[in-house]
This record gives sequence, C-alpha cells and structure tokens, in this order.
Amino acid sequence: MATLPQQTLSTTLGANLVYLNGKFMQPDQATISPFDRGFIFGDGVYEVIPVFGGRLFRLSNHLQRLQDSLKAIELANPLSLDQWRKVLQRLVDETGGGDQYVYLQVTRGVAQRNHAFPKDVPPTVFAYVQTKPFLEESAEQSGVAVITANDIRWQRCDIKSVSLLGAVMLRQLAERAGAIEAILLRDGLVTEGAATNVFLVIDGTLITPPKGRLILTGITRDLVLEIAREHGIAVQERDVREAELASASEVWITSSTNEIKPVGTINGAAVGNGRPGPVFKRVYGLYQNYKQAVREGKAE
Ligand code: PLP
Repeated sequence: MATLPQQTLSTTLGANLVYLNGKFMQPDQATISPFDRGFIFGDGVYEVIPVFGGRLFRLSNHLQRLQDSLKAIELANPLSLDQWRKVLQRLVDETGGGDQYVYLQVTRGVAQRNHAFPKDVPPTVFAYVQTKPFLEESAEQSGVAVITANDIRWQRCDIKSVSLLGAVMLRQLAERAGAIEAILLRDGLVTEGAATNVFLVIDGTLITPPKGRLILTGITRDLVLEIAREHGIAVQERDVREAELASASEVWITSSTNEIKPVGTINGAAVGNGRPGPVFKRVYGLYQNYKQAVREGKAE
C-alpha cells in the first residue's frame, strides 16, 4: 500500500497520533479503503478547528457547522457532541497542546460504487492534529495579493464538503498569478474566497456577503462580525458588487488558518493606499485579544 513514509508524515503533521473509526493510532497505521466514498465520490464533509494554548477555538460553532453539513448530505453524525469533544481534546492533549489545528472528516463509508446512498454502511471518521503553520507576520503589515476569478463552484457552498476541486483549481489560478487567494464572483457579486470569506470597508462600515447557499459561513467570519458589533463598528451583511472591491478602502480575507489578512492588491491594483487600514488594525487587535482569552480559558 502506498503510504507516506513515517518520517514525512510526522514532519508534515508535527504529530504522531491520529483518530480513525474509534481508535487512536500512529499516522502510518491509519489506512482507509480505496472504495471509501470519500475517495471515490468526495462524498463527505470536514472541519478545520484552530487550537490556541491547547484549547479548541470556537469548538461549539465548528461542531454545529459539522452537524449542519452532515444534515445537508443526510448523513447521521457518528459521534455525540460530547464524544467529539473528548476525541478532539485527546488528540490535542496527546500531541503537546500549544497552537495547532485539528482536521476532521466524515465520509459515507466503504461501499460498491453507486452514486445513490448505500444502506447500513458505517461512516468513516478521521481526525488529526497538525502543527499550525506560522502566519507570515509581514502579511499583517503589508497586505496580501489576491486576484478575482469566476466562481466556478456548485450551488451548495454552505456545505463544508470534501469535494474541493473547484477551490483547488481556483487557488492554483491565484498561485500562478503570484497571489495567495482568488476572490470569487458570481453574477457580478462577490461570494467569498476559494477558501476564505471576504470583508470590505466602505466609509468606515464593515461589509461582507450574506449567509446563504453560495458561501461557506466561516467561523472566523462570524467571530469578526461579533467582535465588530460588540465594539461599535458598523456592520452590514449584504450583497457586494464587483465594482465595490475597487472603491473599498480596505479588503480582508478571513479563515481559521489565515485568521484575518488585509488585502494589499487585487489583480495588481492597490486597495486603498496599499497598506493595512485602521479598521483592520482595530479588529485584528481585538481578534488577537480574543485568542488570548481562549488561551486563558476565558472564552471558547
Ligand atoms: N469559505 C470557504 C470556501 C472555506 O473553505 C473556508 C475555510 O476553509 C472559509 C470560507 C472560512 O471558514 P472558517 O473561518 O470557518 O475557517
């Protein structure tokens, strides 16, 4: 069987423990059938949960979104919330706590190839912890480059599906253009990034596209909105026209692994004066304070 060499796995994961179908084991012992519907059809859902100071960040929100994704694809949640908490916390604790992130995935299990759902097949449940890649400090100072691209994905982007071919192709497009993300456009409106949500600041108001089937409701997005509202920053969840990207004084992208990043250029053109703006600096500081509260066990 083709597996990554143990050394590569440990280096990649920064950890030597994974969870698969009820058991904790070494990464090289975790094997999944090639007939798994996750492999054959991309028939499954996932979550990525940051860990700060050994504590799972916004865990309830992530587990609720997992529940929503599973419900949308008509797959019963294989674990109770309490079981999820225990499994994920054990992975974190046994891999040294600290700052990292947890990846978890549930697929519709192993079955003969047939698109319609199989009956009485146990799902495949997999989770691992990965040492968090360090965020580039410079991004917070100078802003990142993004491009715009047609949103070629399907119409259920609210499901956190492991079928990520659209996102993979769009990210590659961005990388080829020397950018880190593609901001996606559908019918003249901004939806989100290939793997991030998008915020704009126009006249001091923080604006982001609304929840719905055309975006993934990011946990980071919701926290940014929560923090902004709490601190009296005007917020709008509304449709964003493509042209507004050019008139915004600030544009940000957000996700669990990117946190909040200011966009410096879109298709090579500077956003605002090309430097991270005042609203970004304020919200970024508040977000860092929130992370610290999580580390100290004062927030989730
Ligand atoms: N939108 C898409 C398409 C994503 O894939 C992601 C994260 O992977 C996000 C938004 C941001 O979500 P979160 O903040 O929960 O990481």
